Amino acid sequence: MVITTEDLQRLFALIAGDIAVQRDHLCELDGAIGDGDHGLAMDAGCEAAAKAVAALDPAQAAPTAAFNAAAKAFLNAVGASSGPLYATALMRAGAAVKDRPELSEDDFVRAFAAMAQGIQERGKAEPGEKTMVDAWRPAADAALHAWAEGMALPQCFDRAQRAARDGCEATRDMVAAKGRASRLGERVIGHIDPGAASAAIIIAAITKFVQHDG
Ligand code: ADP
Ligand code: MG
Repeated sequence: MVITTEDLQRLFALIAGDIAVQRDHLCELDGAIGDGDHGLAMDAGCEAAAKAVAALDPAQAAPTAAFNAAAKAFLNAVGASSGPLYATALMRAGAAVKDRPELSEDDFVRAFAAMAQGIQERGKAEPGEKTMVDAWRPAADAALHAWAEGMALPQCFDRAQRAARDGCEATRDMVAAKGRASRLGERVIGHIDPGAASAAIIIAAITKFVQHDG
């Protein structure tokens, strides 16, 4: 499988659609341990990113330009802390595939892992701190590990998707060390982290895309 800018246009539209469906649910999760805007932020960011990528001429724009356009649009559309985190993730994905006219499967896995790394470095959060890193880190590690073992891309992302979902579920029992929820101490126990939930949705959408279900 080779992934072109046109494919990325489809991928960003798929992500935006799946996030839009879960917008209110994500706001409810954020309402419990944050300020209730996470669904609105992710919906606005993903919608803006999809629009910016869709506006590119795939004959002119390489995948790196698509990721960069998505990063800029996401940042401009979102005032919440998820804005710079995803903008950094998308910029890192773009940098990981710089100069590639189209993406090999290996490029795609590296771009995916670069997103997780970007989020982690930008937010300085480690796994276990009840953030989106608890979904992104294990998902990237699962994809990288499966890919290195020689597994096919759809299986690699199936692993990633499961790891993201498990990681998201695990945030329920954590206290938060980063972000707004960190001010609430033990009161956040019992609630899933909204950023981990949206990350799991995005990673599931990417999995559908590589499995041609999108
Ligand atoms: P805000 O908290 O500014 O309202 P959002 O509601 O859009 O931003 O996003 C909240 C989510 O951002 C949290 O659920 C958490 O997953 C994530 N988050 C917050 N701070 C960090 C951080 N330093 N590193 C990684 N993720 C973070
Ligand atoms: Mg919020």
